[in-house]
Amino acid sequence: MTDRVQRLEATLAQRGVDVLLVSERHDVRWLTGFSGSSGAALLGAGMRTLVTDFRYLTQSAEELHAGWATEIASDLLRGVAQALPAEGAVRLGFDDANLSVRDRDKLAGLVREGVALVGAGGAVTALRAIKDAAELDRVRAAARLADTALQTVLADGLVGRTERDVALEIEIAMRRLGAEAAAFEPIVASGPHAALPHAQPRDVVIAAGTLCVIDWGARLDGYASDCTRTFATGELDPRDRAIYDLVLHAQEAALQAVRPGPLGRDVDAVARAIIDAAGHGEHFGHGLGHGVGLDVHEGPRLSKQGDEALRAGMVVTIEPGVYVPGATGVRIEDLVVVTADGAEVLSSLSKAFQVVG
Ligand code: ZN
Ligand code: ZN
Repeated sequence: MTDRVQRLEATLAQRGVDVLLVSERHDVRWLTGFSGSSGAALLGAGMRTLVTDFRYLTQSAEELHAGWATEIASDLLRGVAQALPAEGAVRLGFDDANLSVRDRDKLAGLVREGVALVGAGGAVTALRAIKDAAELDRVRAAARLADTALQTVLADGLVGRTERDVALEIEIAMRRLGAEAAAFEPIVASGPHAALPHAQPRDVVIAAGTLCVIDWGARLDGYASDCTRTFATGELDPRDRAIYDLVLHAQEAALQAVRPGPLGRDVDAVARAIIDAAGHGEHFGHGLGHGVGLDVHEGPRLSKQGDEALRAGMVVTIEPGVYVPGATGVRIEDLVVVTADGAEVLSSLSKAFQVVG
């Protein structure tokens, strides 16, 4: 954990920052260990201070990594201003990617003369993209738990149940297995509804002979998992089967391209070229994948805009999809760790075409 502090401190000078204010909840947790909903961390100029309020007095004492001190304040930003060094010029980096304009202005009004606010968003986010061994273990455990939960639910079949009922059962199964929560609301989308990449489960019964997209993940020890499988619920229209085979082919080709070095957009392009060549380019309207950690969507981006190179220790999803509006949709998503020479796939459930009645 000291390592995280040192890595972050090493970036402060090049950002022109003496003290960094870390305010985004997951950033605070990653840096300090504190998981409460209200807290801000100050790092630099000899400070390692978590500012939080009275409700978190005990929790912060239990959770904070070694070397961090707690300041209790009834008003978080006031507490931040008071915790800063009392003298000298201080360039205070704040998270301009997350702190609201209102809070930024409030903070500017609270700090003493000599403290200058400097935009420093993304400082922690960039480091969070590379997971250490303990983080990888947590993501692995979350993925395993989520897979077990889905298998339990699928044992009762899909046909005749509503999408909402299946989504609820997935959440319940994950909680029973020890998840803190679902990492996000599970997506269960069948028939033409499968063409909506972020479909809300409906009170609609899943029919036989169609495709059903299930996208789900668990949150365990703060870390998220994310996976998608698409199942057939009986004999399919040949068009639907062809789309399934296409998406699987694109997904497996993209997986083969995962290793340290390529940019996010390079890996995206591998899947996109295959889907384009099959005439479904316009039906793959989202990026190939994203980073996963304390947030279910974090850096790096694997999309046409993905200009960050993959590096060992990143956890990313590989999730191409083809969505034919009003007709059908398929998405297949694996959660993978970028390793020194390739990828470790954390999603254990088979991707082979499967009928679940
Ligand atoms: Zn997903
Ligand atoms: Zn995803």
